[in-house]
Amino acid sequence: AVPIRLESCGKTFPGGSRALEPLDLTIRGGETIVFLGPSGCGKTTTLRMIAGLESPDPGGRVWFGEEDVTALPIERRNVGMVFQSYALFPNMSVAENVAYGLKVRRVERADRERRVEEMLDLMHLGAFAGRRVDQLSGGQRQRVALARALVVRPRVLLLDEPLTALDAKLRDSLRLDIDRLLRGLGVTAVYVTHDQGEAMALGDRIVVMAKGRVAQIGTPRDIYHRPTDGFVADFIGAMNRVSGQAQSGALRLGRGAFPWSGPDGPVELLIRPEDIALAAEGEEDTHLDGLVAAAVFLGDRTRLVVETGDGPPLTVDAASRSGLARGDRVGLRLDPSRLLNLPQP
Ligand code: ADP
Ligand code: MG
Repeated sequence: AVPIRLESCGKTFPGGSRALEPLDLTIRGGETIVFLGPSGCGKTTTLRMIAGLESPDPGGRVWFGEEDVTALPIERRNVGMVFQSYALFPNMSVAENVAYGLKVRRVERADRERRVEEMLDLMHLGAFAGRRVDQLSGGQRQRVALARALVVRPRVLLLDEPLTALDAKLRDSLRLDIDRLLRGLGVTAVYVTHDQGEAMALGDRIVVMAKGRVAQIGTPRDIYHRPTDGFVADFIGAMNRVSGQAQSGALRLGRGAFPWSGPDGPVELLIRPEDIALAAEGEEDTHLDGLVAAAVFLGDRTRLVVETGDGPPLTVDAASRSGLARGDRVGLRLDPSRLLNLPQP
């Protein structure tokens, strides 16, 4: 599988401001990398530069392995693409849609038929080979789009929000299929999404983007547990803000005091819901007391909003069977090793 290297790839559209600051990034061969960020942050633009649908501003270079592909048009880069909208031929059969790229590449008939059949089996589409695409469900169409992109054995697979148009249940099952497929084929893949759950589930690494810049690159675990700034911390999962006071080597936070090496003064810290434990109000070793202002039953757990009277309310997870409800009073214990002290957005 081929590695991809972006070297100083920025993008300014004619008459527009800069959509993408010059970006340096190496994607390893066989890796699935996810571009994650809010709408308009430059994910699609970056993907289109890798595809050859957009060229970087002067000075930018795109490499596939040792080959400089900056000036190569899309049809000579051998990339497969899947979009949010299926972009299939509606009046052709499933098999004809999948065979299309092979025909264009003049793959001979017997070989073509064998590869189409293999790919349809792999995508659980064997039974639909003769069906017209406009008679398929959204999830099945997206499977056809994937099959069509992969059957030509692209050097690189590019996916731009392929699940966004599907409903939740289909999204989950197709996400699992994509995961299995990417891991099985070992193809270098770039996956664009604004959905952090998808990014965490699929990415070997995630590139978090904000306003045309890379905010952080790392494994899903890095990004979640060691965000490098407040934007990333807030964008991925739920994050709480608590304020403390640093004085002579100790950080006072509610009733608690933790060892602290920073300068004296007020400190804002971040902590995930799962790093706050619930106890009875005033219980020993708790740091804060609070009032449950809302309790949302989520099945596997109940998410509480707890007002402490000091700063914004905290999000805390309770076991569903705890029976905690709005109006209850609780004590909170913060895991000191999980407190993050980050530059704010
Ligand atoms: P994302 O995929 O993260 O939502 P895009 O890469 O599509 O973001 O867009 C990034 C920025 O570039 C946006 O501000 C968008 O309006 C702008 N942009 C994208 N394509 C064009 C274009 N063809 N012409 C002008 N501006 C564009
Ligand atoms: Mg986009």
